[in-house]
Amino acid sequence: MERLRMGPAYASRLLAETNGSQGTATDLGRIALALNLEVREVDAGGFDGALVRAKSVPIGAIIVRRSILEASRKNFTIAHEIGHFLMPGHEESGGVCASDDIGNWTRPANVLEREADEFAAELLMPEASIRPFIESSPPSLGVMEEIAGKFRSSFSSVAWRYCDLTRERCAVVWSARGQIQWSKHSKYFGYRLRKSGAVRQGSFAFGCTARSRGPSLPKPVSAALWIQSKNLPQGEVIWEQSKALPNYDSVLSLLWIKKPIRKAGL
Ligand SMILES: [Zn+2]
Repeated sequence: MERLRMGPAYASRLLAETNGSQGTATDLGRIALALNLEVREVDAGGFDGALVRAKSVPIGAIIVRRSILEASRKNFTIAHEIGHFLMPGHEESGGVCASDDIGNWTRPANVLEREADEFAAELLMPEASIRPFIESSPPSLGVMEEIAGKFRSSFSSVAWRYCDLTRERCAVVWSARGQIQWSKHSKYFGYRLRKSGAVRQGSFAFGCTARSRGPSLPKPVSAALWIQSKNLPQGEVIWEQSKALPNYDSVLSLLWIKKPIRKAGL
């Protein structure tokens, strides 16, 4: 099996075996019980989630930092640790996962952490359940917020998952303190995004704060603000919607090529 697809495959099997998904939010309590996993919140710092397991016996405990601000992020952390517990090759992993290890979509080099994230994304947002939400409306951050609420998964994981599954020319860009951190585009997007550097003036993401009210739906901005290409004709646009995430000092931007971009010289 292709290594990165192992996460979703294990998550789907677990959902089928435990009847853990009822069309919307996955019942992590029921799943943990079925796996003999105790979930405990602790007042600790230094990590977000940890897996404690007995050697050679399939029982264990998941420990979650109580002070994680959002229930959805806690859920994603628990699902991530269940992934470490179940997947082969993860026997030595889990242990302690820092907040940087969980849902950190910037570091594809860390295969086991990414695999646990992919597992968590499928466990909380099974493709069959989430697809109708993605396909029933045009792309917007509002759709992603609706999914995050219904499926109780972190906003960044929803954004990632959305681009995995949508058939639109979409991408999401996560920036923190004005600097691009990571991006993900759908397989239909067709352009390379600027991978790092400062968010450009002229985009809705530039200077976006919790108080500034950007557009409630994606609106056109210059495509050159986001797309890395020497052959982008002047005046071409991309649709953008951005939202500040003050808990993370970050901004999430949705990009959508609603109308195809002209090729240079045509
Ligand atoms: Zn981990």
